[in-house]
Amino acid sequence: MKKTELMAKQILVTGGTGYIGSHTVVELQNQGFEVVIVDNLSNSQIEVLDNIEKITGIRPAFEQFDLAERDKTDGFFQKYSNVEAIIHFAAYKAVGESVDKPLEYYRNNLVSLMNLLESMKKYDVKHMVFSSSCTVYGQPETLPVTEQTPRQEAESPYGNTKAICEDIMRDFCKANEALNCIALRYFNPIGAHESTLIGELPVGVPNNLVPFITQTAAGLRKELSIFGDDYDTPDGTAIRDYINVVDLAKAHVVAIDRLLNDKTKQNYEYFNVGTGDGYSVMQLVKSFIKVTGVELNYKVVGRRTGDIEKIWADTSYGNAELGWKAEKTLDETLLSAWKWEKNVRGLS
Ligand code: UDP
Repeated sequence: MKKTELMAKQILVTGGTGYIGSHTVVELQNQGFEVVIVDNLSNSQIEVLDNIEKITGIRPAFEQFDLAERDKTDGFFQKYSNVEAIIHFAAYKAVGESVDKPLEYYRNNLVSLMNLLESMKKYDVKHMVFSSSCTVYGQPETLPVTEQTPRQEAESPYGNTKAICEDIMRDFCKANEALNCIALRYFNPIGAHESTLIGELPVGVPNNLVPFITQTAAGLRKELSIFGDDYDTPDGTAIRDYINVVDLAKAHVVAIDRLLNDKTKQNYEYFNVGTGDGYSVMQLVKSFIKVTGVELNYKVVGRRTGDIEKIWADTSYGNAELGWKAEKTLDETLLSAWKWEKNVRGLS
């Protein structure tokens, strides 16, 4: 991609102050895209804008409102008439919370997508990249999962919002041939930007493995509970495909490039975004201890309800079509997560 060719594009990044969103804004700006962020700051901090600016030298435009509000979404597109593409991250994402608050999850995640799709028609924005998830595969019968692996009924309202959003986009694209959407099915994003200026900042007790590990190593939590060691895996702990967040952010830039430069095969496409390698919880814990040299208290407890046993991606279709491949190793990614945690906690 030549920088000059891309200078004029303005990309709307919803949820752009969040974990994956902020890393994607940095990569877009590094490629010469002009970015405008919309975020309601329900799960992120305004200071992220300062840190993006420190990394790239450019402060992205920012608007704070809730995309589930139709009139505010309209007002946004009237003000920002140069938006050519949308990357839609803004959504609720806590699996457990979604079980307790299903309506909030359906309303927020579905309505905001539908408002954006309506805006694409109304304001002639032709392209969208959407954050989907490998959760749509459930526990697949065969591994690794390709894009052809059948989806399974979701385990949680959160997971169901991802499946329904994919279906909404598919049907929307069928009815609107000039409009294009790509869904990226993320595996497990971890790690932080090498600058240690942006990273994952979970509110309260982390649900995800790596933030729990780094917080335990930093002394915020007493010990890590490993959920189950009786799975049908080599060491008995569950297996996932952990993808570096900067690699994941770059996948969004190539998806935007594919849309803007008319390289899509159909006007609705979806891709796995993982590394292609599966690691067990125990392997990850041991790698963390090895690369950081830090003590980590952990104990094995029972399985967590709703967890699947093992999943990792077949990335060959995405690698070939997008010309993108995860580059960072698990070790360097875990180290980046630890450096970020230390920076946030003021540890040396
Ligand atoms: N996990 C764990 N202890 C924790 C958090 C997670 O053992 O405190 C395990 C979890 O059971 C799963 C893996 O780590 O096997 C990844 O969990 P995470 O919540 O990060 O991602 P997901 O389950 O959504 O793939």
